[in-house]
Amino acid sequence: KQTLDYAQQLYEKKLLTYPRTDSQYLTEDMGQTAQHLVSDLLGLLPFAQGLDLTPEVGRILNSKKVSDHHAIIPTAEFAKQGFTGLAESECKLMNLVCSKLLCAVAAPHEYETVTAVFSCAGNEFAAKGKTVLVPGWKEIDQRFRSTLKADTEEEVLNTLPELAEGQSFSVMANVSEHFTSPPKAYTEDTLLSAMERAGAEDMPEDKVNCSAGAREGGLGQAERKGLGTPATRAAILEKLVQMGFVQRKGKQLVPTKDGINLAVVLPESLTSPVLTAEWENRLTEIAKGNADPDEFMAEIEAQVRQLVKTYSCISADKQNLFQSERVVIGKCPRCGENVYEGKKNFYCGNRGCQFVMWKNDRFFEQRKKAFTPKIAAALLKNGKAKVKGLYSEKTGKTYDATVLLADTGGKYVNYRVERKE
Ligand SMILES: [Zn+2]
Repeated sequence: KQTLDYAQQLYEKKLLTYPRTDSQYLTEDMGQTAQHLVSDLLGLLPFAQGLDLTPEVGRILNSKKVSDHHAIIPTAEFAKQGFTGLAESECKLMNLVCSKLLCAVAAPHEYETVTAVFSCAGNEFAAKGKTVLVPGWKEIDQRFRSTLKADTEEEVLNTLPELAEGQSFSVMANVSEHFTSPPKAYTEDTLLSAMERAGAEDMPEDKVNCSAGAREGGLGQAERKGLGTPATRAAILEKLVQMGFVQRKGKQLVPTKDGINLAVVLPESLTSPVLTAEWENRLTEIAKGNADPDEFMAEIEAQVRQLVKTYSCISADKQNLFQSERVVIGKCPRCGENVYEGKKNFYCGNRGCQFVMWKNDRFFEQRKKAFTPKIAAALLKNGKAKVKGLYSEKTGKTYDATVLLADTGGKYVNYRVERKE
């Protein structure tokens, strides 16, 4: 969300093109613009100094893959003005956008891989090696990355020595034991990109490739799958955190107990990204005049009606999932089961037992004393509780006393003040 905000700022300063886009292409009439832009950027960007780049702009022009807005690129205004007057975060973002553009028009990265297969004691082992022939766009990418402090990890190249078929080697072998670790929880980053791809595997192949829109080539990739749009995804996550379904633990996003329960209780059709994808598909069709909006709304209405009908009562088990952890106050004097604190009372967990102590019992209200869990616990444990600051209607003063639990087994529990000996 932060990043989108920066991009929006830069857009408003006319330095960056419209940021809420899914497209990775420019329209075909932008060839000249892109050509000029790239040569201006080569002079402007510190990490591009001395770079030998023959831009292949044609590769990024494709009007069919641009729906409402083309890919994010710097503007001519930025090429003129440069980084002057920009905040550090804005500079970083501009650098990133520029480096992507340069990478996109650079030569392909070419390399040669060698796979060597060794046979040893009847088993086959393979080793892979890689030799870079033409660095291409990777050189720009690496130059850019080396300007970032955090990301200095360099790709380790596995180069194999010269090998010939039929060679023999002597080997030392030993057995070692390793354990796999479970996949890590999502971070904001990984979850956002998972949302972008969500549903891709679930969509039947024919729908992805052959829907009417796709045949005409007018359907953007992201409209067929994924949850939310570039403009809304970050806000969706924020909302889940605010509502208590997801928790931030450091960089990780972890579902809360309520979050897990919600996913368990919701019908599968609502938790699956396929539903969203289908709706997006239909909306695109409606926008093109190929589908009827009233029909779509009628279907949604029927669907909602069906959902409400099927799920209007949730089973007791599922309802219990959402009850907050019950706090045990003590043991029931009648049946020995646990007594829990409710909103308005302390009640016996045994449904057949009627024992309940009301927090607004007249005994405590008259004495202007709150019936606290602490008092309730003492009453259950010892049959009596020392209570301070009881109000006397007779004297208008407060006094300390021991309150006794005087349960007669009736509907209401009685209390009385212990007489001073
Ligand atoms: Zn009981």
